[in-house]
Parts: sequence; C-alpha cells; structure tokens
Amino acid sequence: MTKHTAAVIGSGFGGLALAIRLQSAGFQTTIFEARDKPGGRAYVYEDQGFTFDAGPTVVTDPDCLRELFALTGRKLEDYLDLMPVTPFYRLYWEDGYVFDYSNDPEENARQIREKNPEDVAGYERFLAYSEEVMREGYIKLGTAPFLNFSDMIRSAPELMRLQSYRSVYSMVSKFIKDDHLRQAFSFNSLLVGGSPFKTSSIYLLIHALEKRWGVSFPRGGTHALVRGLVRLFEDLGGEIRLSAPVAEILTEGDRVTGLVTEQGWRGEFDAVASNADIMFTYGKLLGRTPRGRQAAAGLKRRSFSPSIFLTYFGVEGTYPELRHHSIMFGRRYQGLIGEIYKGPELPDDFSIYLHAPTVTDPELAPPGCTTFYALSPVPNLGAADLDWETLAPRYSERILAYLEKHYLPDLRARIVTKRTFTPFDFRDELNAHLGSAFSLEPVLWQSAYFRTHNRDDKLKNLYFAGAGTHPGAGIPGVVGSGKATAGLMLEDFGHRYSDADVSAQFAKA
Ligand SMILES: Cc1cc2nc3c(=O)[nH]c(=O)nc-3n(C[C@H](O)[C@H](O)[C@H](O)COP(=O)(O)OP(=O)(O)OC[C@H]3O[C@@H](n4cnc5c(N)ncnc54)[C@H](O)[C@@H]3O)c2cc1C
Repeated sequence: MTKHTAAVIGSGFGGLALAIRLQSAGFQTTIFEARDKPGGRAYVYEDQGFTFDAGPTVVTDPDCLRELFALTGRKLEDYLDLMPVTPFYRLYWEDGYVFDYSNDPEENARQIREKNPEDVAGYERFLAYSEEVMREGYIKLGTAPFLNFSDMIRSAPELMRLQSYRSVYSMVSKFIKDDHLRQAFSFNSLLVGGSPFKTSSIYLLIHALEKRWGVSFPRGGTHALVRGLVRLFEDLGGEIRLSAPVAEILTEGDRVTGLVTEQGWRGEFDAVASNADIMFTYGKLLGRTPRGRQAAAGLKRRSFSPSIFLTYFGVEGTYPELRHHSIMFGRRYQGLIGEIYKGPELPDDFSIYLHAPTVTDPELAPPGCTTFYALSPVPNLGAADLDWETLAPRYSERILAYLEKHYLPDLRARIVTKRTFTPFDFRDELNAHLGSAFSLEPVLWQSAYFRTHNRDDKLKNLYFAGAGTHPGAGIPGVVGSGKATAGLMLEDFGHRYSDADVSAQFAKA
C-alpha cells in the first residue's frame, strides 16, 4: 500500500489521538506543535519540586485511551498507571453544607436522604436518564462524523425523545428538588464549557460516564498521560516536532498540499489535520485563501465558551480534610454563571474548582508539601474586554484570600511558589479565539452537524480534530473527535488498522 503522509498541527489530546490512529494505520505522520512541550491545554509546569498540570485533571472513560494502545496490540498499562480517585468531587457551599460525590450509589443515596429524602427516588430516575443519554449521545454518536444534515435528521427523533432541547439545569430540576443538590448534579457541563442553563441536557451523560468508568488520575499527573501517548506515537514511528509553530497551510485549488512553519520550514503532505483552534486555523493558517476567510467569517458569528483564570500554587504542609477534586460554590449560582457567559464585567464573586493532586500522588510535590491549582471560570475576551495583565495579580490574591478564609487556614503564609494563567494566555499561548478555554460553546445549535466538520467542506484533504469539532471539549470528547476524523481519513486514502477487531473489542454496549 502507498504510504501516505499526514501532518497534524497541534499536540492536544485530539491531535495526539488522531496522530496515533493515523500512524497505526500506515500513514507516515508528523505532529507540529507550537509550544516546547506536547499536550496543549494539558501542559505542565515544574517549579521547585512542585508539578503543576496546567489543565485537565479529571480523566473519565479510560477505555477511549486504551483503544489507542490496542490498535497496535499494545497496552495502556505498559505506558502509564491510572489510579482511581474517590470521591470524584467534594462539593462545598459557603453555608457549610458539604457533599461527597462518588460512584458508590448507596453512599450518594445516604447523603441525599439526609439532605432531602424526597430526592432519593428522583436521583435514581436521574441516573437512569443519564445512562440513556450516554448511550445515545456518547456511545452511538460521539465518534461519528456529522458531515451531512441528513446525519443530524436521523438522530433527531431520539434526541427529541430524550428532551435534549431542555437545559441541563432544567432536566436536573425535573428529578431533584433541593437547591444544593440541583447545583451538585448540574455543574458538570461547566467542565466542558457549557452553561447548565443553556447547554443541552444531553451533557448529563457526563454523570453516567463517571459512574460507569469512575474518575482516574495518571500517576505522575495528567502530563504523564500526554507523555505516554507521545511515546506510543514515537514507538509506532511517528515524528513530533516541538517549538514548531505552523504559519500557513498551503493550498492548490480544492486541496491542501502542505505547510510552512514560522521558522520557514516547508513540507508537502498528502493530508493536513488541524488540532489548533478552529478560528485560528481558518483565519490565520488559511487566511490567504477564500475558503479560510469565508469560514472564519462564519465562525465570528458563533458563540465561544468562557475563559478560565488559573492560579497554580505550591504550599508547605498538607490539609488532610481536602480531597483531590473540590468545588467551592460561591454565594450565587445562576446569576454568577449568567455573568460569566454574558459579561460585560468580571463578576465580584466566584465559584472555584480546586485541584489538589498530591492527595492521590504525593510525588507531585516535595515531601510534606501540597500542589494546588484554583480555577475560576471568567468571561471570554469577547464578552468582557478586560485587561488581564493588570487584573491578574489582584484577582489571584482575591481567590487565595477567599480560599484561606473559608477552607485553607494560613494559606498565603505557606505559599512557596505561584503562577497564573489568564484569558490573555489562552489567546496568546494557545491561539484560542477570544481566549476561550473550550472553543465553541456546547449548545445544541453548535453541536454535531452544526459544529466545525471533521473534514472541511471545500478543501478535500483538510481535516480537524479537537474541541472545536464534533463531539466537543473534554478528554473523551476530543479523543472521540480524533477517532471520527481518522475514520474519514482512512476511508479517503484507503488505509486500515492492522488489527481491525480493536473497535469491536472496545465497542460499548
Ligand atoms: C483548565 C482546564 C481544565 C480542564 N479540565 C478538564 C478535565 O478535568 N477533564 C476533561 O476531560 N477535560 C478538561 N478540560 C478540557 C480539555 O482539557 C480540553 O477540551 C482538551 O484538552 C482540548 O484538547 P484539543 O485536542 O482540542 O487540543 P488543545 O489542548 O487545545 O491543543 C491544541 C494544540 O495546538 C497547538 N497549536 C496552536 N497553534 C499552533 C500552530 N500554529 N502550530 C502548531 N501548533 C499549534 C497548541 O499549542 C496546542 O498544543 C479542561 C480544560 C481546561 C482549560
């Protein structure tokens, strides 16, 4: 078989998953990554013995990762160690209420009974619903490319039956009456950039994903997973070029022919796939072409998910009452979320996701120390035109003071090292349009067929994988997009995986 060549621009999870699949199926694949380390949003910082994973920390559906290794008869376990995390999250409210959310249904039911006995039966129905939407929205449709409107029409009746036109929060409220519990079961869509008040109830599938496969964390941190995937790709003969930002995708008629890097390296490829931001790809990398300009103009009218403000900090000592993942709900829920999505100002209050990975893996900090990051969702640069350079030190200080007052006594005196990542960094370091953390907002009218297609409609050998494409953000989402895109590329170029049974082996019932 002819050995076709493919270039993948970007080494986020979507780019890595796609590149591994292509290399496994006989494409000679090269990844071009702008930054000095692979992983995209899953970058890593190391400072004074502390290891800070920059982005994703909650790993669900490990089978979507195992499948990548199995394509060539390998095992994920030979490359990395995934550890279970329990509880999944400890949820805190300012009034002192605490809920531990885990995959122990009896423990969850016990806590729900204590809070509001009427909600126990509703919780059962909620889980059954979540399982149904997972089957439809993730297992059936999560790795299928939606290139035609007819694909959308075919799934419409089932999506209607599941009332996917309702929002996450409205659906949770149908099953659960207690206000704290409604928040507890609806916040998850924020983890993939969706407002619980606008995003389709389909996103409640996250609960079923977590329940079925648990929540895991790689020993050595999320970046150990990135390194494992890169090693797999290289073991298969793939090449990854770091610090190699692509400046332009070359075209001829209705085909792409190769790319040029900012350093001036120029190469020809049979196919090019972009894992970089969709707006950046069309507007900048294809900005000289009519297709690039037309697609970028279309994307400008779409809504992009909010940004995130992150403070990474390493402290002396430990906080034994803390769990690995905590959500600290602020005084407002709907009002705060509305302002984060709409702007035009930075809200005065916040809700925080606190990551404390040393609870699971103490090696991520010097002995007796704790590694943290605090994440606060904030408006993207289109919703609020804020000067993050000036704001960052103050905003970070406010978050640390808040954590110290409510949850982490003595915190600021114990900090050894600290750094921040702002919407400006999403824009400048990751080329993210409007500094969005999760690309296109995951709402029904921007999902599936209505999201950027995994293969361009006009340039026949240009492909996309990552958060801006179907099915969307989150590790399982972008790994699924890599699968959908690889399926198209294999078909277009007549390639196949050496072990064709792998998909069947990982088919989910
Ligand atoms: C703070 C944070 C926490 C999150 N937590 C979770 C979580 O716990 N669980 C979960 O499942 N998901 C989580 N997510 C979402 C998840 O991390 C992302 O949806 C996913 O990692 C995005 O992957 P991607 O394939 O779209 O690529 P990205 O990670 O966006 O990577 C794109 C890559 O393209 C590169 N690139 C850009 N321009 C160029 C160029 N010109 N040339 C070459 N390369 C270029 C970039 O440098 C980058 O490496 C989180 C996201 C954030 C920001």
